[in-house]
Amino acid sequence: MKPVIDVHEHIFRARDIPVKGYLYSRPYEGFLGALVRFFRLPGLLACCIRRRRRTAEFGPMCRLLIRLAGVMTREDYTTWAGILSQPDVDIVAAMMQDTFAHDRIHLFVPLMIDYEYWFQNTVDIPLAAQIDEVYRHVVLRSRGRVHPFAPFDPVRELAFEHGLPSPDGRKEHDGSLALVKEAVDNKGFLGVKLYNSLGYRPWDNAAVDDKRSALFRRIGMPLYAGITGVQIDHAMEKLYRWCVQEQVPITAHCVSDGIESYPGASYDFCSPQYWRNVLRRHPTLHLNLAHFGWSEAERYTGRGTGGMPPWVKQVCDLLRDFPFVFTDVAHHAAFTPRAADYLRDYTEILGSYRDVVPKRLLFGIDWHVVSRLKGYERFKSAYVDLLRGNGLFSRAETADFLGGNALHFLGLLKRAAPPAAGWNGNRIRLARFYRRNGITPPRWFTATGP
Ligand SMILES: [Zn+2]
Repeated sequence: MKPVIDVHEHIFRARDIPVKGYLYSRPYEGFLGALVRFFRLPGLLACCIRRRRRTAEFGPMCRLLIRLAGVMTREDYTTWAGILSQPDVDIVAAMMQDTFAHDRIHLFVPLMIDYEYWFQNTVDIPLAAQIDEVYRHVVLRSRGRVHPFAPFDPVRELAFEHGLPSPDGRKEHDGSLALVKEAVDNKGFLGVKLYNSLGYRPWDNAAVDDKRSALFRRIGMPLYAGITGVQIDHAMEKLYRWCVQEQVPITAHCVSDGIESYPGASYDFCSPQYWRNVLRRHPTLHLNLAHFGWSEAERYTGRGTGGMPPWVKQVCDLLRDFPFVFTDVAHHAAFTPRAADYLRDYTEILGSYRDVVPKRLLFGIDWHVVSRLKGYERFKSAYVDLLRGNGLFSRAETADFLGGNALHFLGLLKRAAPPAAGWNGNRIRLARFYRRNGITPPRWFTATGP
């Protein structure tokens, strides 16, 4: 049996993240932009979606703001705002499973995120409490259908080490790595989520000390401006060593038009090639470069050699050079008329990287972020049409894309698999987790084991 595994989803709520600081970090240009700033619309919009509400209905003022955001970005934020303003994370997780019930997805992997140290502060739910809530209300209740990734942030780790308060002014009781270890060891979490475009590279952070400390001063957090790139590298290295030793996979955000701490920060911190020096030292690290580096903006500006978007080419080169690097298709708009662009790019990619891409491509939708785009409910069928319907992938390769490859990436190989094939650390941890919590292992797990 090849299960269907979605390796990239999100179930955070607006009040889990500094959404106001994020909205103010965006560029608002021209006359319209000046009006947006003058009337403090980002702050008002953040208020609307950070409020706890049991119904999906917003008041007239919030409805107007949500519609205005849609007009400005030519997207529809109604569904998105309704999800983000939910009071309870288990409701959000249930919405995710209901939305894709027709896709028969056996395992969902929501990626938790940690933006707290990188945007102007709002009082948020402490990350430790968020992780615990997801563990108790989502992981345990789902009985093997939902196993998340926990976020790691090197600045949170260093703030804890140096006894600095959190942006909320709280004392940090746990380091970032300790939170990750606890989640993976005891709470049914499968891996680690990194978000480099916030302000740290996978490695070699001394080269961007000036950019990072300028950011911390600009957003009113000078306390963290003294943290050096050498210290960040040290924190990252501790994470990589633990991941390799314990067989814990990492998903790293890898596209230039997602969340970033300032416009263009992705290019300073997030380029796929920055991973090369990490992978040379840790060649068995299981790494998913999320989104395949596929940016709408890059598609039309400065294509790389051979016509592929530049980051896509860099990701493909890493797939070729390192056997345990993977990439997911999260947020690709293949369910829209833009499918033609993806078809053209895949045809070219498979012309040069046929021997690696079908074995390393991972299925992931990026709900609830993708819910701004019309037709997102058809994500899976549209992607299968793109790859299989156009004859790019065989039937077996399509099954690998939908879940077979994820078993490799997630370290869920059979216990008897030879070490050279990859990892089975999560198979052993999950078997223990199910036993300890009285959960009958789900069929996707037993059918792919022992
Ligand atoms: Zn995502």
